[in-house]
Amino acid sequence: MENHDVIIVGGGIGGLVAGGLLARSGARVLLLEQGVHVGGCAATFSHRGYRFDAGATIGCGFHPGGPMHWLGEQLDIQWPLRPLPVAWEYCDGDVCLPLDPARHTLLQQFPESRGFLQEQAELADSLWELSECLLTLYGQWRMRQAVSLGACLLPGIKNVRLLRLASMTVAQWLKRHRLDDNKAFSRFIDAQLLISAQTTAANCNALFAALALDLPRRSPCVFDGGIGTVAELISQAIGKNGGQVCCGEKVQSFTLHGERISEVVTEKGSYRAQEVVLNGSDMTLASLLGKEPAAGFGDGPGRAAWSAFILHMGVENTIMAERPGDHLQLLRPESIGLAEGDSIFISASPMTDATRAPSGKRAITLSTHTKVDPWWLAWRQSQEAYRSLKAEYTERVLNVAEGYVPGIRQGMDLCLAGSPVTYARYTGRHLGLVGGYTQTQLRAPKQNLYGLKNCTLVGDSSFPGQSVAGVTVGATMAVDALLRRL
Ligand SMILES: Cc1cc2nc3c(=O)[nH]c(=O)nc-3n(C[C@H](O)[C@H](O)[C@H](O)COP(=O)(O)OP(=O)(O)OC[C@H]3O[C@@H](n4cnc5c(N)ncnc54)[C@H](O)[C@@H]3O)c2cc1C
Repeated sequence: MENHDVIIVGGGIGGLVAGGLLARSGARVLLLEQGVHVGGCAATFSHRGYRFDAGATIGCGFHPGGPMHWLGEQLDIQWPLRPLPVAWEYCDGDVCLPLDPARHTLLQQFPESRGFLQEQAELADSLWELSECLLTLYGQWRMRQAVSLGACLLPGIKNVRLLRLASMTVAQWLKRHRLDDNKAFSRFIDAQLLISAQTTAANCNALFAALALDLPRRSPCVFDGGIGTVAELISQAIGKNGGQVCCGEKVQSFTLHGERISEVVTEKGSYRAQEVVLNGSDMTLASLLGKEPAAGFGDGPGRAAWSAFILHMGVENTIMAERPGDHLQLLRPESIGLAEGDSIFISASPMTDATRAPSGKRAITLSTHTKVDPWWLAWRQSQEAYRSLKAEYTERVLNVAEGYVPGIRQGMDLCLAGSPVTYARYTGRHLGLVGGYTQTQLRAPKQNLYGLKNCTLVGDSSFPGQSVAGVTVGATMAVDALLRRL
């Protein structure tokens, strides 16, 4: 049986960042990934000449001082990124707004929102500074860390606005700016929050929202080869620092000895390590321990609520040529909700990235939020029921897309549909719940570690900021604590 300092279960961004930093610090790391490649929800996979992003498509936090820039410096990675002058174009009926960092069109459309957007931008700047400051604590001595932490938090504590918003919802914040009756702007805000905070203004914590609404302002980018390039580069860094990454090896169970995981068992063998990092939620942990989730865990406020229905499409190059960018957020005109195909997000591979699609074509990832229950019901019912639900959703989202991008359906030579069942299979996530937890409260939902002394959870179920950048900050803080036990 092989011995390691740390075994990491799962090669999503959380597991990879943890593995990279641990290997860099000299720990003997073994990362086990069930899939054929690393990246999880932020992977890019190949199919019939296309390279499709599995979920995430847009990078953020790669600007100097941002968490991904910091990670690149730690692991000696140069990110092959392409900045996006327009993060995405937001379209609701006749209104189409390219979301650029200076917010020109947004302010033209909603001049009354200037005060709100200004306040959001100032708060976001303070929060980005705080995250930058927190990352500088990494690896410091405890005493020094405590002093530096105080220095990091002091400006926040003195910032009355920031403190006031910490206990507010976005709906209350909008009301303070007399924007609560502005239906079109509130709908715009809801649509942004749903994709970045997994909930809407009525429930979303205002501080989380300040950061979530900042993505188009904060150097959004894409990567040569797709977002999976980020995961592949971190994986290579683990190897360069003496760690091992094994793909195609699914962890089946953990064996316990007292309050410690003594053995990590896969279909190929078993491994021992001082510490285990699980890239997943406590629901994944429960299933690896063969335990029922404890009462009160698994649902309730702040837990993950959504999955995604997704189409991976190969389309003609010219289909989106008229748009100002490659990413579109499209709302079904007059719809009441924003999930289940009422709003969709489309990302097309850059025309100039020849690695992503056959000549004259582009790889598109189209997604919408969906609840998991109907999918599992259909899946359990019959293959026919599941297929027909997929066909119904495919039709629904393509109808919305066709309304804004005429010809997209005809210009398609490939269309693969994925559901919560697909996500559960390919990412191992409980019920296929993706995107992290709903950011209703400032505190992250408590994870049940079953009293284990050598187990750490990383990923978007355990730290706020459902994004590659947010997961990176969370994993860094987890590694900082873990290194003290090695
Ligand atoms: C549709 C969609 C769009 C998104 N868009 C963006 C975006 O544009 N920008 C952005 O920054 N973020 C985006 N996100 C969010 C981002 O992708 C996630 O927050 C992030 O990738 C989650 O990383 P994670 O570490 O939590 O783990 P995951 O991605 O869930 O990875 C977990 C890994 O663990 C592996 N694993 C699980 N169980 C086992 C086991 N038993 N044995 C071995 N391996 C196992 C899985 O195969 C997987 O690789 C999007 C997410 C989705 C779903």
